[in-house]
Amino acid sequence: APSLNVDVAIIGAGPSGSIAASLLHAQGKRVVVFEKQHFPRFSIGESLLPCCMTVIEQANMQNAVEQAGFQFKNGAAFKYQDKYTQFDFTDKFSPGPGTTFQVERATFDKLLADEAVKQGVDIRYGHSVESIDIDTEPCLSVTNENNQTLRVNAKFILDASGFGRVLPRLLDLEKPSTLPSRSAVFNHIRDNISDANFDRNKILISVHPDNQDIWYWLIPFSDGRCSVGVVGKEQQLQGLTSDANCDLNNVLTTMINQEPGLEKLLANAELINESALLKGYSANVTTLATDKFALLGNAGEFLDPVFSSGVTIAMQSAAMATKALVKQLDGQHIDWQKEYSVPLMKGVDTFRTYVEAWYDCRFQDAIFFDDPDPKVKQMICSILAGYAWDENNPFVSESKRRLDMVVELCRS
Ligand code: FAD
Repeated sequence: APSLNVDVAIIGAGPSGSIAASLLHAQGKRVVVFEKQHFPRFSIGESLLPCCMTVIEQANMQNAVEQAGFQFKNGAAFKYQDKYTQFDFTDKFSPGPGTTFQVERATFDKLLADEAVKQGVDIRYGHSVESIDIDTEPCLSVTNENNQTLRVNAKFILDASGFGRVLPRLLDLEKPSTLPSRSAVFNHIRDNISDANFDRNKILISVHPDNQDIWYWLIPFSDGRCSVGVVGKEQQLQGLTSDANCDLNNVLTTMINQEPGLEKLLANAELINESALLKGYSANVTTLATDKFALLGNAGEFLDPVFSSGVTIAMQSAAMATKALVKQLDGQHIDWQKEYSVPLMKGVDTFRTYVEAWYDCRFQDAIFFDDPDPKVKQMICSILAGYAWDENNPFVSESKRRLDMVVELCRS
């Protein structure tokens, strides 16, 4: 089989793969990206957090993202029964951008990948990574759509394959998530929202009125469409069966109509595609990195969609891993645990605290509290804006203890 020698081979051209490729290329490293699909391709995960704009800027893609016509985003709104609260991301504790975008991922991911190619990165679409030999120097076996195989020798492999989870599968790194298995049913809609008070600049998270374990996202795009989805345990989503013919459009509309606010807001909405189902998406791994590979974004741990942290974690992981990797390629010894896994997990664990507190309702009690302390709100707002690695924020450095204190205060 023909072979190729590079410094770094990257599996997948989603946000983590494209950004990592761009950052390495800018440091003069020989990089190749293998992407199984052709872009544009659908992906879920359309609500970005401001923190990821810093990484987009580092990769020199900021102008392209800002000029693409995406929906401006400046915060998040939460609704439960007659309670409504919102976070303005510009009113936050941590420094850094306070606004971002709500993006159709097919367009956004293609834009990032195209920018990387413009910078000189080699992305090969229709190329699927099938196996890896890691005993000596890493070697990938990559198959194209004509069933031709390419052997790729690389000094290092970055797995940015998202839910494809290529290296966790091939190297037996899978570890079950401690979060219970949940499902999401979603679609794009022509929203036809007439309510003048509806704020298109924020993601709206609505809680089911009778079951706080079930929630909905509504993410407006810039062209009169929205992404809408419902999340719950499989048995909680009414009408959902494991039957292949299960009518997911019906599941989604039934669930939407159980939340009076959404039912009213979306009274004239039209579904655009067939609704889709994703289940059991939370995942974890035993090892995030060694001196031969690192897992980026969703190929590592994926928690939960409620705080829209996925793309931000994906991009942060790309920035952190490539920083360590450039040093290693330049001859330094790198302790991957210390320089990558531990610092990355700091932010992931902050989000974990909040995800767990969302589902046991403590976080919901805290945000729907009538009289929040403005300073505390700014610190929590920072985390919701993605700044989950800022250890100057006490709600990051001691995320559990601080959140517990706030919850206690709200509940007493
Ligand atoms: P991806 O974007 O998934 O890219 C991986 C790429 O790898 C794909 O293009 C794939 O084709 C390619 N690939 C896979 N296998 C192979 C192979 N063998 N060879 C070559 N290429 C391969 N995140 C947010 O930030 N905001 C949200 O609002 C949000 N909502 C979500 C809602 C739900 C229900 C779920 C489940 C997730 C949500 N997420 C959200 C998370 C988000 O989808 C992911 O975190 C994000 O897409 C991860 O990016 P990535 O670069 O790691 O992987």
